[in-house]
Amino acid sequence: MGHEPRVWDFQQGSESMRNLLGGKGANLAEMTRLLGGSLIPPGFTITTEACVEYLREGNSMPDGLADEIDAALSRLESGPGRTFGDPSGPLLLSVRSGGRVSMPGMMDTVLNLGLNDASVHGLAQLSGNERFAWDCYRRLVQMFANVVRGVPGELLEAEIDSVKATTGLALDSELDITALKALVDRFKHLCEGAPGGAFPQDPREQLAQSIEAVFASWTGARAIEYRRINHIPDDWGTAVNIQQMVFGNLGEMSGSGVAFSRDEVTGAPEPSGDFLANAQGEDVVSGVRNTRPLSELAAWLPHAHFELMSSLRALEEHFGDMQDVEFTIENGRLYLLQTRTAKRPAQASIRFASNAVDEGLLTQAQALMTLVPSQLDALLHPQLSRPITPDEILTRGVAASPGAAAGEIVFSAHAAVAASAEGRDVILVRRHTEADDIAGFHAARGILTSTGGKASHAALVARGMGRPCVCGAAGLEVDAEARELRVSATGAVLHEGEMITLDGTAGIVTTAQIPLSEPELSLQFERILGWADEVRSLGVRANADTPEDAKRARRLGAEGIGLCRTEHMFMAADRQPLMRAVILAGDMDERHAALEDLLPLQQSDFAGLFEEMRGLPITIRLLDPPLHEFLRDPSQLELELAGSGDLSGDRADALRQELDRTIALQEANPMLGTRGVRLGLLHPEIYETQVRAICRAALSVSSQGELPHFEIMIPLVAYEDELRLSREAATAIGLEEGLRAGSDFRIGTMIELPRACVTADLIAKDADFFSFGTNDLTQTTLGFSRDDVEGTILDRYLELKVLDRSPFETLDVPGVGALITMAAERGRSTNPSLTLGICGEHGGDPESITFFHDAGLDYVSCSPFRVPVARVAAAQAALADGRH
Ligand code: ADP
Ligand code: MG
Ligand code: MG
Repeated sequence: MGHEPRVWDFQQGSESMRNLLGGKGANLAEMTRLLGGSLIPPGFTITTEACVEYLREGNSMPDGLADEIDAALSRLESGPGRTFGDPSGPLLLSVRSGGRVSMPGMMDTVLNLGLNDASVHGLAQLSGNERFAWDCYRRLVQMFANVVRGVPGELLEAEIDSVKATTGLALDSELDITALKALVDRFKHLCEGAPGGAFPQDPREQLAQSIEAVFASWTGARAIEYRRINHIPDDWGTAVNIQQMVFGNLGEMSGSGVAFSRDEVTGAPEPSGDFLANAQGEDVVSGVRNTRPLSELAAWLPHAHFELMSSLRALEEHFGDMQDVEFTIENGRLYLLQTRTAKRPAQASIRFASNAVDEGLLTQAQALMTLVPSQLDALLHPQLSRPITPDEILTRGVAASPGAAAGEIVFSAHAAVAASAEGRDVILVRRHTEADDIAGFHAARGILTSTGGKASHAALVARGMGRPCVCGAAGLEVDAEARELRVSATGAVLHEGEMITLDGTAGIVTTAQIPLSEPELSLQFERILGWADEVRSLGVRANADTPEDAKRARRLGAEGIGLCRTEHMFMAADRQPLMRAVILAGDMDERHAALEDLLPLQQSDFAGLFEEMRGLPITIRLLDPPLHEFLRDPSQLELELAGSGDLSGDRADALRQELDRTIALQEANPMLGTRGVRLGLLHPEIYETQVRAICRAALSVSSQGELPHFEIMIPLVAYEDELRLSREAATAIGLEEGLRAGSDFRIGTMIELPRACVTADLIAKDADFFSFGTNDLTQTTLGFSRDDVEGTILDRYLELKVLDRSPFETLDVPGVGALITMAAERGRSTNPSLTLGICGEHGGDPESITFFHDAGLDYVSCSPFRVPVARVAAAQAALADGRH
C-alpha cells in the first residue's frame, strides 16, 4: 500500500514514537511493554498523521483508514473473545484523544462505546448488575452528546441536577436505575436536537463518529487557543487511542483514581493521589464527590494497593522522572490507563532531582534534565505564605513577573519614590508604564498594570529588577488623576494608600492580607546548581548597576557583572541637578566644573561595585541614553515659566535657558539619535570623566596590586572608527591615571547594530570583547521600537502567527541570531582572543541560552534573579549537545 501503518496496537508502539502516537498512545505502548498486558487494557492508536490527513482532506476520513481500524478491532476482539456490538455481552471501548504534548482539558474522551438499547441489557446480564449497565450507558450517551454532537456540558449537567432534585439525591453514584434510564432518554433527546442528529445505535457508527470528533477537536476554538498560548504548532494533529474498557463503577470493590509516584506538591518521596470507590473516568477530577487519599486504598484493597505502589516505582524508574498515573480497579483488580511525567511546582522538581540522584535513580546529568529552567525563578522571589482562595481574588491579569508583593497602592513613580523613602511598602499601579516610571519600579515592591502583556514594558522591567508584576489586569480601571482603582466587575473602588497584594506567579490581585515569606536558595537547589556549574561551558554573569544588585548576583552564583549601566549613576536624586548642570552648561568651563562635581560621586559608586565583585570581571557601559532623558519635561518648564511673574529675573532667565536647551535637545527619534558612542564623540568630556572615575575607583580599592577586573564598554558602535577613537581617548585617560588599557583593564563594545555585526572583523581589531546587546539589536534588526509594537503590532502578529512568540522574550534566531553568529565568526577571525558575551534580556531566557551556547559565546549576562535559571539552562544546553 506504500504508506506507513496509521494504526498501531499498544504492543507494537513505544515511547520513542511520541510524535506519531501522541504522548498518551506512546506511553500506553511503553507501559504495555514494561508491565505486560495484564495491567494495561489492550487497545490501539490511530496516528497523528492520520489526523493531519483527515484535516487536510477537509475533514474526511483518509482512504483505507477504516479498513486498518477494522483489522485492529478484530485483533482486539480475539483477545477477550468478546465482540464489539454483541448484544449479549459486548466488548466496550474508550476513544481517547492525545497529541504529542498533553493539552489538559482541551480535547475529549468517550467511554463505554459499543452500548446501545439492546446491549445494555446484555451488559446487565453479564455483570449481574443492572444499575452498573445503565450507569455505563448514561455516561456513554452523555459523553457522546458532548464530544461528538457538541451539546454544552452545562446543559447535560443540568439534566443530572434536575433528576437529582426530583429524586432528592445528592451524588451521581446514588442515581438509581430509573433515574439513569430517564437520563439516557434526556441525553438522547439532546443529541437529536443537535447537528448530526440522533445517538447512533450501531456501535461501528458510534466508533467512526467518535474518531472523527476527536480528529476535528484539534481545530476547535479551545484547542487552538491553548496551542497559541503554549506555542504548540497547529500542524501536529492528535492521535486517537481506542482501548478496551475496564470498569471502576462496578460496585464497592471497584473504583478509579489518580496517583503520583511522589508527592506532587512537595516532591516528598512517597506516592500520593486520590481515588473514589465505585467511580469511572474523570469522576475523581471533576469534583462531583469528595475523593479519598491514596493511603486509604491500602486498608480497603491491599492487593490492588500493593500492585499500584510497585507499578509506580517501576514506571518512575523506567521513565526516569516523576509519574502521574490514572488507574482503575475493577472488582479488586488493578488496571493502569495512563502515565505521564508529573507536572509539579519548582520546589517539588528540585526535591525530586536531588533525591533521585541519592537513590541511584538518575545520574546528576539526568536529574538536571528533568528541571524546567523557566520555572525555577519562582523559587527566588518572596512568596505568599498560603494560596489566595477563590473568593479573595479581586481580579486576574497576566502573570508577568513571579513572586508575591504587598503594599499600599500608589499611582505614580513619584509617589512610589516618596513613600519608599519613608520606609513604606508600595505597589505601583499604572495603566501601563514607560521609561519615566523606572524610579518607581525601584521603589515599589510590585507592579500592577491594567493593560499590556508578558512582553510589555512593565513586565520586562519588573522581571529585570526582580519585582513581582501582574499586568494587563483588564478588570481594573486605573484612574491616576482621581487616584482611584476601580474594579469593573463589582464597582468597588480602592484609593491611594490602601493595601493590595499581588501574586505575580499566578497573575492574581487581592486585597486580602496574606503574609509573605522571603525565599532562600535551598540546600537542595544549591546542590543542583553545583552540578549545573560542573557541566556548563557558558559563563553566567549578571546585569547589575548597584552594589546591592551585585551582592545579590554574587550570592546567586554570578561569575561577574556583564552589564553595569551607568545612566543610573546620573539619575539618582542627588545627581540629577549636577547632570542637568553638565547638559545646560553655557560653556566648556561650566561643563567641566559640573563634571568635576559628579566625578567623586561616580567614583564611590564604582568603588562600591568593585568591592562587591572582588576577583570577578565587571563590564561597565559608558553613558548610553540621549541627553534629554536627564532633563525636565518642557511643558512643565513652560508652566513654571508662565507662573514666574514673581520670580527674580535670574531665576526666570535660568528657567528660560533650561527650556531652550531642553527643546534644542529634543529629537524626533531619540532611539536613533544622539546616544551611545555618538554622544561620547559629541561630548568627549562625559566619557572622559566616567573613565577617570572608574580608574580612580579601581585604584582606590586595589589591594596588594590586585586591581578589580574591569572592562569599559562603548555602546552603540556602528563604525570601526567610532570604537578606535573612543578607545584612544579611554586609553589616554587610563594612562593619566596610571593604568594601561589591554592589560590593567579591557576595552570593548556593545554590539547592537546590524552594521556592527556585518563589520565585526573590522571592529574587533580595537575590541578586547564584544557584548551583544540583544534588546537593541532586536529593535534595530527588526526595525521594531519595543515600546511601540508591544500590545499593538506584536499582539496582532502573534494572532496572525507571523510570530509565535515575542522576539524581545526569546531571541529571533533566524534573524538576530544569524547576525550574532556572523559577528562572532568575523570578530574572532581578526581577533582570536576576543571574549564574546550577551547582556540583553535574552541572557536569562532558557531557549535563547541554548542558542548562545550553540553559537559558541563565552558567557550570558542576565538580571541577578535569573542567574540560577541561566546556570541550569546553560548546563542543559551543554548536556544536550554532548560537548561537556
Ligand atoms: P484526559 O486526557 O482528559 O485525561 P483520558 O483519555 O485519559 O482523558 O480519559 C478520561 C478518563 O477516562 C480518565 O479518567 C481515564 O482514566 C478514563 N478512561 C480512559 N480509557 C478508559 C478505559 N479503557 N477504561 C476505563 N477508563 C478509561
Ligand atoms: Mg487522562
Ligand atoms: Mg543598547
